[in-house]
Amino acid sequence: MEKIKKIAVMTSGGDAPGMNAAIRSVVRTCAYYDLECMGIYRGYQGLIEGDLVPLTARSVNNIIHKGGTILKSARSKDFRTKEGRQKAFESLQKHQVEALVVIGGDGSFTGGVIFNEEHNFPVIGIPGTIDNDIYGTSHTIGYDTALNTAVSAIDKIRDTASSHNRLFFVEVMGRDAGFIALNAGVGAGAEEILIPEEDLGLERMLESLRKSRRSGKSSSIVVVSEGDKTGKNVFELADYVEENLPEYEVRVSVLGHMQRGGSPSCFDRVLASRLGVSAVELLLDGKTNLMVGLRDNKVVTTSLKKAIKGQHNIDTELLRVSDIMTT
Ligand code: ATP
Repeated sequence: MEKIKKIAVMTSGGDAPGMNAAIRSVVRTCAYYDLECMGIYRGYQGLIEGDLVPLTARSVNNIIHKGGTILKSARSKDFRTKEGRQKAFESLQKHQVEALVVIGGDGSFTGGVIFNEEHNFPVIGIPGTIDNDIYGTSHTIGYDTALNTAVSAIDKIRDTASSHNRLFFVEVMGRDAGFIALNAGVGAGAEEILIPEEDLGLERMLESLRKSRRSGKSSSIVVVSEGDKTGKNVFELADYVEENLPEYEVRVSVLGHMQRGGSPSCFDRVLASRLGVSAVELLLDGKTNLMVGLRDNKVVTTSLKKAIKGQHNIDTELLRVSDIMTT
């Protein structure tokens, strides 16, 4: 089999801090091995529209510390159709690109697997999403930064909560996964943490807040994941507590998109650098349909199909720690 000479890299789905560090790593690894590299703007949509530019080692100067993605990201309806994927294939052929590195989440990997099956085109995935909801890696790029952003925001909310003896509900990102809520909740010392993986029931939350009052706490923080299972959104939860525990003055803070932004943490930059090198080296070895990830601090691979289908479970030991910390 002939060695590949040209690869393309894209960022796809929701943006995450550290994506630029991953792009930089892919581009520089290509330069190191004398491979040509193209950058695809706006994910699969840009690929369909032929929005590709050559990237050299110097094109990625001064981006390692920047949030967002210099290649932009997008969600593409067209790529979900056979015709769209055919156009994407033609764009790659036109530029003599022989392999693709996709930095994104499980949706982006699903697109990559289907594309590979239809066109027999080599694809390697790099997990880039703040939610950390991907099987086969302990950390996705962007998660550590988002976590630290959430913790520092909750620290600030705690200052105002304790000055006014208030109870704050703080909503963090995570529709299907509670990694940010659980870890930020433990890290910021929350009284209660509500996550999609666990439904402890509303009564238990009330009881925990009552207990907290009895034990002499005058202010409290409850961290709620967007997708928690109580059946109430964060504003309804606040109303519910005010109705049932009138002694509490309740406020709500939704952290929202600020969790996606900002300069990536050192951890995310190092992770992105390691995974980018591995992605290009796998393609040089003739590998495809793999995701690179981290397990026990070692770079490992998982088949893209497994990464999509597998469940990245929440750490039960951390749930226990969180329970004990609310004593
Ligand atoms: P995040 O976790 O941040 O949401 P993601 O990669 O999961 O990132 P998605 O919007 O789910 O984000 O997927 C990104 C893109 O991947 C979609 O806009 C679409 O172009 C492509 N894609 C997703 N699922 C499929 C599919 N079943 N077939 C073809 N393409 C797909």
